[in-house]
Amino acid sequence: MLRTHTCGELRINNVNKKVLLTGWVQRLRDKGSLLWIDLRDRYGITQLFLEEGKSDASLLQIARTLGREFVVKVEGTVAERISKNDKLPTGEIEVKVTSLEILNTSKVPPFTIEDETDGGDDLRMKYRYLDLRRNPVRESLQLRHKMAQQTRAYLDGLNFIEVETPVLIKSTPEGARDFVVPSRMNPGEFYALPQSPQTFKQLLMVSGFDRYYQIVKCFRDEDLRADRQPEFTQIDCEMAFVTQEDILSTFEGLIRHLFKTVKGIELKEVPHISYADAMKQYGSDKPDTRFEMKFEELNEVAKGKGFMVFDDAQLVVGICAKGCAGYTRKQLDELTEFVKKPQIGAKGLVYIRCETNGTYKSSVDKFFDEIELARFAQKFNAEPGDLILILAGEKDKTRKALGELRLHVAGQLGLRDKNKFAALWVRDFPLLEWDEELKKWNAMHHPFTSPKPEDIQLLETNPGDVRANAYDMVLNGTEIGGGSIRIHDRATQQLMFSKLGFTDEEAKKQFGFLMDAFEYGAPPHGGIAFGFDRLCSLFGGADSIRDFIAFPKNNAGRDVMIDSPSTISEAQLKELGIKMRE
Ligand code: ASP
Repeated sequence: MLRTHTCGELRINNVNKKVLLTGWVQRLRDKGSLLWIDLRDRYGITQLFLEEGKSDASLLQIARTLGREFVVKVEGTVAERISKNDKLPTGEIEVKVTSLEILNTSKVPPFTIEDETDGGDDLRMKYRYLDLRRNPVRESLQLRHKMAQQTRAYLDGLNFIEVETPVLIKSTPEGARDFVVPSRMNPGEFYALPQSPQTFKQLLMVSGFDRYYQIVKCFRDEDLRADRQPEFTQIDCEMAFVTQEDILSTFEGLIRHLFKTVKGIELKEVPHISYADAMKQYGSDKPDTRFEMKFEELNEVAKGKGFMVFDDAQLVVGICAKGCAGYTRKQLDELTEFVKKPQIGAKGLVYIRCETNGTYKSSVDKFFDEIELARFAQKFNAEPGDLILILAGEKDKTRKALGELRLHVAGQLGLRDKNKFAALWVRDFPLLEWDEELKKWNAMHHPFTSPKPEDIQLLETNPGDVRANAYDMVLNGTEIGGGSIRIHDRATQQLMFSKLGFTDEEAKKQFGFLMDAFEYGAPPHGGIAFGFDRLCSLFGGADSIRDFIAFPKNNAGRDVMIDSPSTISEAQLKELGIKMRE
């Protein structure tokens, strides 16, 4: 080793020790007769010290040529600092330099390598290798490393086997477009990159592997959305001979293990809620349960008083914002504007203030007297000082809009605390969802998900009512994982494909291999996949997944550092048998 210690290692008990350090120059302070250098590596910062008259003149001369991010090797003696820095673990000591060698120079970096940098996003991404020198980014990747290690430790402890599945495959439908790769040896033919290893992990169950996992790259060519990466990582898992309950408890165990070992947190109870109840109580299939603010349905107290907005509505539903009766006119207008935004889509917002003196004041006083307003308040067990917010309209739309309002208000009230964690299982998802554009049914999870046996008979008459053995784990209002019990017989799989509008021939061409495998003793099986990047960012308390990925792509799907995607040469195209359109 070129060094005896790292830059994060030396302490007061090392005083008088001769040491060799290597690292990057973070900062140079030249006070004329005294000169300090902050030397940085991935472990920390150590202060180096030179003094006119005491240190060798040639050393001072070299030191004065140092620039930011120069790479140096120093030899010296550890000394106690006169003015200590209690913010640095090494802050009690400094190293008196006895030899100094420049291992490499550096251009002035395009942004400061500090926790708070002056570099914008684009610049940071272009010089990502410099950005990765910054503590917060490095720490995010260290967290990711720890999460991966602990995931492996937990699953290995339960007899899961990590198996790598191929990357050059053919389409696996997870509801996105495929990235494709032309095959030189098979002109005119293409591989698809996996949207997930779904079919392979099911085949591994047929092979008897019984418990599989893989921390694996997946690829989805989706339209641009903030904070989505075209390639991302899943903790992908599958188990045979299990019930849904077994899967839920095994993977609740994984999340608990990660919280405990990585964050030192004992995760609270993880409740189960059906999809139907989640929509009814929170207007979302990924409710944020760090706070309550559940919906109350109000048709019973709202209808029949001559207020057309309520009378004509399929559903009148509200939330109670604790302690918000004091909201000003301006704040209430802001909330009204919020729900009327096209993305939210409500027509208006009704409020009832539960005044601290026990009276009520509402935006619908014309239609409802004090006694009637009190009935609304009772529905919520509202107390003086609370504010009730009500939406009305078509059921599903109104629930979704109120779900957004719930999050918005909670955000304003500071109830979405990044250091607080609430997980839950949402289960019994519908098997199918109607695609209004294409006028056909799509699989809500994916086509390999099994319907609940008791609902199968509805497949002919009410496909939309068939529930699946499918589940999501939700953490702080974000879906972090999802899976299902699978179909494991050919007939049901064929039926499913036909419901999804595949002809027998198409189904056979695309998924014949899987249906064939089901005829050779396929065990009952099911599984789940967690979005690893997102899970890491939630653990790291960050909004964006970017800094938990070493070399991410930007929102346009580009890697601006290596400049990809890029064109390829005519010769390469020709070799691949691809003609570019004029
Ligand atoms: N393959 C699924 C997904 O990527 C997860 C699963 O069903 O296990 O969402």
